Amino acid sequence: MQGVVYKSTGSWYHVKAENGRFYQCRIKGKFRIQGIKSTNPVAVGDVVRFDVEDGEEETGVIKKIIERENYIIRKSVNLSKQTHIIASNVDQVFLLITLNNPPTLTTFIDRFLVTAEAYAITAVLLFNKIDTYSIEELAEVKYLAELYRGAGYECIGISAKEGKNVDKVKDKMIGKTSMISGHSGTGKSTLINAIEPTLDLKTSEISRQHSQGQHTTTFAEMFDLQFDARIIDTPGIKGFGVVDMDKEEIGDYFPEFFQLKQHCKFHNCLHLNEPKCAVKDGLEEGEIAWSRYKSYLQIMEGEDENYRVDQYQK
Ligand code: GDP
Ligand code: ZN
Repeated sequence: MQGVVYKSTGSWYHVKAENGRFYQCRIKGKFRIQGIKSTNPVAVGDVVRFDVEDGEEETGVIKKIIERENYIIRKSVNLSKQTHIIASNVDQVFLLITLNNPPTLTTFIDRFLVTAEAYAITAVLLFNKIDTYSIEELAEVKYLAELYRGAGYECIGISAKEGKNVDKVKDKMIGKTSMISGHSGTGKSTLINAIEPTLDLKTSEISRQHSQGQHTTTFAEMFDLQFDARIIDTPGIKGFGVVDMDKEEIGDYFPEFFQLKQHCKFHNCLHLNEPKCAVKDGLEEGEIAWSRYKSYLQIMEGEDENYRVDQYQK
């Protein structure tokens, strides 16, 4: 049978089969997986083949993982540097952004987007709490939305509290597996409630509990919504984990830089001090936003060492 892993509790995996039923599955013996060495061989979101156990109705043994479209990892901060796969096959991530209460800085947004690009996950920016903004603040939201649209990202202004544009978010979720990220207090739980009040995600409580012990294992869980959509909840994780990136590839994760790169004189241009760099020209000409370039420099300088998921827990 084939199914999708919705939850993992260490040794057991809850797999929803194509027939809609859940099976408790185990792994038997050694399991070799392409690509990555991790502390967990099977992750939430994995599509797996399994055999129903003889004489049992609800248990199975996982035989194979279908190749992952993508996966999100978390590296433990301790010396062993073990990798844990938080979730796989994520179609998109919504990043909740607020101007204040709490402030979401463009450097944070940019780092988040770079990581999403590196993971090959579509990111959608949701500017939340628009019901609270002054004319000036709305102008700032508009400016930022234009900036990020120009870079290739979809942006929606919403009020999770008042339900404004929540239907647009719902529409985008249809047929997909989504994650919802953002700093604490940006309105993740409120948005999830607005999308589906009956879905009782424990997001806030659990993430706060987890925030103390940074080495606690994170158990992601997938939930079906009442319309054709799935949400992956990752208690205790507010952002994406660190991805190992080479300096050469960072620029490629800024889509608007990547577009111009073919016009740089050097094919391996890092857009720093090279002559005839199309990205720096684009910067001068206003095609590329200074804030994006600034974030790029910061990430290049390796300040993103601090960009660990643990940073963004309350
Ligand atoms: P989380 O930590 O990201 O899950 O954020 P919450 O959903 O708990 O929201 C934090 C606070 O912001 C709560 O007091 C919410 O009522 C409030 N909030 C969330 N969304 C909105 C919104 O669109 N407008 C207003 N005015 N308040 C909001
Ligand atoms: Zn260049």
